Amino acid sequence: MTVTDALARPLRDLRISVTDRCNFRCVYCMPREVFGRDYEFLERAELLTFEEIERLARIFVGDHGVSKIRLTGGEPLVRREVERLVEMLARIPGLGDLAMTTNGSALARKARALGDAGLRRITVSLDSLDNEVFAAVNDVGFPVERVLAGIEAAAAAGLGPIKINMVVKRGVNEDSVVSMARYFRGSGHIVRFIEYMDVGHSNGWRMDEVVPAAEIVAMIGAEMPLEPVAPNYPGEVVERWRYGDGIGEIGVIASVTRPFCGGCTRARLSAEGKLFTCLFAVAGHDLRALLRSGASDAEISAAIGGIWRMREDRYSELRTAATAGLPKVEMSYIGG
Ligand code: SAM
Ligand code: SF4
Ligand code: SF4
Repeated sequence: MTVTDALARPLRDLRISVTDRCNFRCVYCMPREVFGRDYEFLERAELLTFEEIERLARIFVGDHGVSKIRLTGGEPLVRREVERLVEMLARIPGLGDLAMTTNGSALARKARALGDAGLRRITVSLDSLDNEVFAAVNDVGFPVERVLAGIEAAAAAGLGPIKINMVVKRGVNEDSVVSMARYFRGSGHIVRFIEYMDVGHSNGWRMDEVVPAAEIVAMIGAEMPLEPVAPNYPGEVVERWRYGDGIGEIGVIASVTRPFCGGCTRARLSAEGKLFTCLFAVAGHDLRALLRSGASDAEISAAIGGIWRMREDRYSELRTAATAGLPKVEMSYIGG
């Protein structure tokens, strides 16, 4: 049932990208200069169908010990009828957790249907409460209020407590850190501050634009004292901190300054059916070709097992000049 990789890490989580498209152009993910009018997104026929995704998901869960699935993208809510996929996945026996990461733009409209379909949890990305700063990040002028309305709708649909992801980029939204913490403190929702990462090639990443998690904790702690909380489980990616007065907590994801490859149990399936064993992988393994060539479940399962057993990725730990020149794939394609 469990398959472990070359570094003895089991396969536990599967992130499924349901589309490479998005209605935002976040500067750290899909900058407009690269993802402009002429950008060639995947054609519909290239995307895995819901039936193909479900078939793979059943194999990952049934044969390889995956207990958590997260739908992502691109923006998962721009894939038509994604709630139908949620419903199909929610029925898979043995799947403990089914979640989604979204920019929240369509959530006010979709939250109820997602909850009814069996989604358990949702993470909403929001990079500032200030409309000007948020617009400078999403680059489509999307207003904060509509994302907040989406968060409320998700909570009302039983998808809470909600995790709110904020990517912090120096010179762009670091001044929004404390106000985000303050706003959601006591709301029951948990803000997770994420270090800006060097995924893909298009965001022009530079180390000096990363605001280290330690600095984020210090900024918030100076105003609202924080104390560390033990992880929920070993290898948890997020480092938890709670307010000294017991009113809520925050998380920081220090993928750059304190990498966590040693506990990384995550595989990613791109929208066109390529399996990636690391967010920074150079190439994926084509499961769609297998699916569409008439392979049996047993053959697909054996291929997945073989790919995981060979896995030795630990990019973040090796993030050095030696790897800096390698080609990588974009986060909007592979799924965040
Ligand atoms: N569109 C959805 C959203 O924004 O939530 C799902 C896909 S997005 C790629 C998943 C997560 O990755 C988001 O929380 C986003 O902020 C984060 N992300 C994207 N690019 C990043 C980068 N360069 N560094 C750190 N996090 C990033
Ligand atoms: Fe779209 Fe999410 Fe990337 Fe922003 S982070 S461009 S919302 S996929
Ligand atoms: Fe996992 Fe790769 Fe990220 Fe390391 S760099 S934590 S192996 S996805």
